[in-house]
Formats: sequence, C-alpha cells, structure tokens
Amino acid sequence: MRSKYVAGNWKMNMDKASAIELAKGLVESVKGLNAKYMIAPPFVYLDAVYQVIKGSNIILGAQDMAATKNGAHTGAVSGEMLKDIGVETVILGHSERRYEFYENDALINKKIHLALESGLDVVLCIGELSSHRIVGVTERICELQIREGLKDVSEEQLSHISIAYEPVWAIGTGKTATPEEAQAVHASVRSVITRLYSPKAAEEIKILYGGSMNDANAEELLAQPDIDGGLIGGASLKVDKFTTICKFASK
Ligand code: PEP
Repeated sequence: MRSKYVAGNWKMNMDKASAIELAKGLVESVKGLNAKYMIAPPFVYLDAVYQVIKGSNIILGAQDMAATKNGAHTGAVSGEMLKDIGVETVILGHSERRYEFYENDALINKKIHLALESGLDVVLCIGELSSHRIVGVTERICELQIREGLKDVSEEQLSHISIAYEPVWAIGTGKTATPEEAQAVHASVRSVITRLYSPKAAEEIKILYGGSMNDANAEELLAQPDIDGGLIGGASLKVDKFTTICKFASK
C-alpha cells in the first residue's frame, strides 16, 4: 500500500518573514501526521525555511534547478547547491516552467538526470492543456511527457521519482478535474509505468494530483485508488488549508 505524499509549491510568493511564519505554522500543525510532506519555497528563502523545518516531518523541496552542473552559468542554481543547503527533492517540468520559460521534455530530462546525480528526489510534473483534453489526447500527451522526461532513467532511479499529474487548465484557475477525470488519467499514467518499467515499479510510484486541489475537494480526490497525494499551489500558502489536506492524506 502506497503512503500519501502532499507537496506545497509556494511559487513566487511571500517575503522572508511570512515564509518563516508559514513554515513554523506547518511544523506545528503537521506534527504527528503520517504521510510524506514537502514544501517548496522560492530559492532565496530555502535556507531560512530549512532552519525552521529541519528535524520535523516536513522535507524541503525546490521549485526548479539548473540544467547544468556548477560553473559559468550566470543566475543558475545547481542540484548540488540545493542538496548542500538541505533540499531533498526538486519539482521539475512544472507547466509554468514549460510554458513561461519554454522548457521542453529534453531539457526536463537533462535536469532529472542531474537531480538524481546530485542525490535529489524529483517530482516530475506532466499534464495536458485544455485544447488537448477537448480533442481527446490527454493520455497521449501525458505518456509522451513521461517517456521523454524519464528517458534513460533506470528502474532503480525511478524509486526517487514521483509524478504529478497537473492538467494545465486546472492550475491556479479554481477549476479542478473531477475525481473520476483525475483517476482515469492517474490509472493510465500507472499503466505507462508498467509498460516502460514493470508492474512492481508502477505499483510503487507515487502519482500526485495537482490543479486547484484545496481543503474542500482534497478528500474526494485523495480517496481515488491511483491518486497518491497532491501538489498544491494556492492552498499551500495558508496553514489551515494546507493542514486540512495533509490530514486527509494521513488517514
Ligand atoms: C501547482 O502549481 O502545481 C498547482 C497545482 O497550483 P494550484 O494548486 O494553485 O492550482
């Protein structure tokens, strides 16, 4: 039985004081719960937040990382640097990176290999645009993103990877996939992993849902057999909302 995983993507929000306050609130409210919990603050607040959450049951995540190792890459932050300051996992392939920053599957694949080499776990985000859903190619798009994103990733390395299915039309829009819609894609993602790796790998991999998951809809989504958690944006910025989701995952 897979345990659940709830991750908060803070995106480009907050200042240092409010990041510390949110982290402190979460450390208290998530204490004793038994799922896996991760928060991903903006780069510049990673260290401050780490000082608050270290030793708690919340792990530190980063929202992105460079596609190159250390060196002459102005403005970039490497996986090794993230690991060095307490980051355990990195979100890669988020649709905001794909569409705002023109990241493609090949670049994401390169980042995944570098993350794994640096000792980081990965949350690989995939998901379709509403135009894909309308023409019925959601599952094909997701399969392509998985195949390309996980190119040359071994089955052993796959144990360091979770997949977040995030329909792009549901991110930050207040529109959520219905539990049935989400479950159908999650089941197809799991079958892609069976085909690419093995039934065992498919059984073990955590597949999170993301896209306007909140304290009001999380319980139903998390009750679906192939939904193993959530990647939460907006609702991860409030202690009470995020905690409610964390509690559903801990049941
Ligand atoms: C996200 O950024 O991954 C996300 C799912 O955002 P939101 O929960 O705000 O839709």
